[in-house]
Amino acid sequence: MNHRTRPVLAVVVPCYNEEAVLPETIRRIRQQLDRLSGQGSIAPNSYMLFVDDGSADSTWPIIAAYHERDAAVRGLKLACNVGHQHALLSGLMHAKDDADCVISIDADLQDDVEAFGDFVEAYRQGSDIVYGVRAARKEDTPFKRGTAVLFYRLMRRMGTPVIHNHADYRLMSAKALEQLACYRESNLFLRGLIPQLGLPSSIVTYDRHARFAGESKYPLRKMISFAWNGITSLSVAPIRLVMAAGLTVFAAGMLAGAYALYSHGRGAAVPGWTSMMLTAWLLGGIQLISLGIVGEYVGKVYKETKRRPPYFIEATAGASQAEFHRQR
Ligand code: UDP
Ligand code: MG
Repeated sequence: MNHRTRPVLAVVVPCYNEEAVLPETIRRIRQQLDRLSGQGSIAPNSYMLFVDDGSADSTWPIIAAYHERDAAVRGLKLACNVGHQHALLSGLMHAKDDADCVISIDADLQDDVEAFGDFVEAYRQGSDIVYGVRAARKEDTPFKRGTAVLFYRLMRRMGTPVIHNHADYRLMSAKALEQLACYRESNLFLRGLIPQLGLPSSIVTYDRHARFAGESKYPLRKMISFAWNGITSLSVAPIRLVMAAGLTVFAAGMLAGAYALYSHGRGAAVPGWTSMMLTAWLLGGIQLISLGIVGEYVGKVYKETKRRPPYFIEATAGASQAEFHRQR
């Protein structure tokens, strides 16, 4: 049978301390799988794969218990918390071995599972990547909305094509996942990488809801670090900015120097303690910032060269064992 017409769909869900929403999430995804396989849009052996990202609550026991009752609920337990992006990647890399296409979605039901049908339809029409784009962000705070707009704009300015209002709710074909697997970077920013695969893609819009239960695992501190990581791991624009600032300061310095010499020649030099202090401070500041930015890149190079494995799998529930054994 042609895989495009009746694909095996895997739904990958990274979970960090999500005991409060998990039963409802499983129920709703199960409903969608039943609906779509009933319509003949996906294969009956489609499944969901929950990645427990080192949760401290009963996330894993819940996954394991559901797996006992329903083989379509599979689980992957990471040995410790590695963060959303790497947890998601581990699930995607797992699912690519036996699924034709994979939808990634957060556990908190903020993204509308009703959109699954549109995702699969776009895949069946030939898209290798289908981006879920939020039609409205009514439920996010004005602060989160404002910073998000700024972030997308900044990313585009810095030369990284990101899809506006698209987070990590998307469908990827097995082919797209094979290509993604070739990227071996440890500073992972999936939504910046995936458009660079250059595969046929399309967009599905949906309404984003409030978290069903539990609280955000992305406090401001993590959001800032995520955005900063997104910029520095995909773009060299900050280095160029420093370079431009350096050149500007240098040019201004030349002019000021010429003026000082000229004043000195005329015997009109003012005892410039204030200006000296200002210059020293300004230059000191610029140098420190530059050092910080350069250091950020050096740090990233350092991390990449170590080629650390991004995660270790501690246990599986019905998930393919291939990668698990490769790690041994
Ligand atoms: N998550 C994860 N590891 C982490 C933090 C979050 O796997 O270290 C998961 C979390 O369980 C959720 C998704 O990533 O399924 C997105 O997190 P959250 O909804 O808290 O972020 P927000 O929507 O508030 O940005
Ligand atoms: Mg959320």
